[in-house]
Amino acid sequence: MQFFVQHSQLRDLYDKVAAGQRISEADALRLFESKDLNAVGAIADLARRRKVGRRASYIINRYINYSNYCILSCQFCSVARKKRDADGFQLSIEEIVGKAREALRLGIAELHIVGGLHPSLPFSYYTDMLQALRALDPRLQLKCFTAIEILHLAWLAKKPLAQTLEALKAAGLDSLTGGGAEIFHPEVRNVIARGKETAEEYLDVHRSWHRLGGRSTCTMLYGHVESLADRVDHLRQLRALQDETRGFVGFVPLPYHPEDNDIPVDKPPTGYDALRTIAAGAGGAELRRGRPAWDHHRGAHFPHGGRAIAPTADGGRNDQGHPRDRMHARAAEYLLRADQGVG
Ligand code: SF4
Repeated sequence: MQFFVQHSQLRDLYDKVAAGQRISEADALRLFESKDLNAVGAIADLARRRKVGRRASYIINRYINYSNYCILSCQFCSVARKKRDADGFQLSIEEIVGKAREALRLGIAELHIVGGLHPSLPFSYYTDMLQALRALDPRLQLKCFTAIEILHLAWLAKKPLAQTLEALKAAGLDSLTGGGAEIFHPEVRNVIARGKETAEEYLDVHRSWHRLGGRSTCTMLYGHVESLADRVDHLRQLRALQDETRGFVGFVPLPYHPEDNDIPVDKPPTGYDALRTIAAGAGGAELRRGRPAWDHHRGAHFPHGGRAIAPTADGGRNDQGHPRDRMHARAAEYLLRADQGVG
């Protein structure tokens, strides 16, 4: 029996996980609501060790934004720019290939490529980009586009979703990114990302991709206006799709960062919240037949902050992910300060 759970009110959940039983939504909510972070971490650690032992994974990759122009204006987004903005940009395919070539010399294994919903680039820009990168190195993993970008590309291509994904796959796409899941509850979504795809559309993009044999990651943006029950509901919906397709290879919880955003938040996420969200997620919210629903439970360095991330290896995390070069600069700045006072 793990020391931290011997006298904990969460001991029954530890026993449940130890027995390989699936925990319920009510159990998952108890994990999130508990102040006993040591016990939540111990349960998460049990789930992690069962899955991967003492092994942890990471990837050396390059994160490229091909453009920051976007026709949407999600309230939480500090990345998107309009054409009138002085700091808007878009890269040519030659520039993207140049960045990839540079990164290959440093030994990367993967490119992670996303952007906004560009107002005028044609569908051929995206397929040409994939083909050019595939030609550069056939072994390079091309992990590109969020679900909302895929829906935008389907609209550009004037093709059904499955055919759009097939065309992208034929051009070289290896996997989809998990961005854009935010929080699935429609009322929360309406506050933080009005006009973006619905939960059903997000899940349908990933379902269609998984049915083509593709793999993807999934995410959850937490620490804004959502309740803990909304987080559990979000995980439940991701787990349901995972039960159906087994296509998610990893789950990435992303803390909301309040700077440069339009959503007023009374209590932005702290290092403590990051630890319990990573642990509660790994500890059971995704448990499937006694094992974590996905292989990789990621706590990327920049979104969560340097000092906050170190203890999470004993709290359910088994994947370090990668340091991003643009999108989470603000988050890094904010949380590296916030985790000076974890708790
Ligand atoms: S989150 Fe994505 S879709 Fe929303 S405004 Fe930002 S770039 Fe555009």
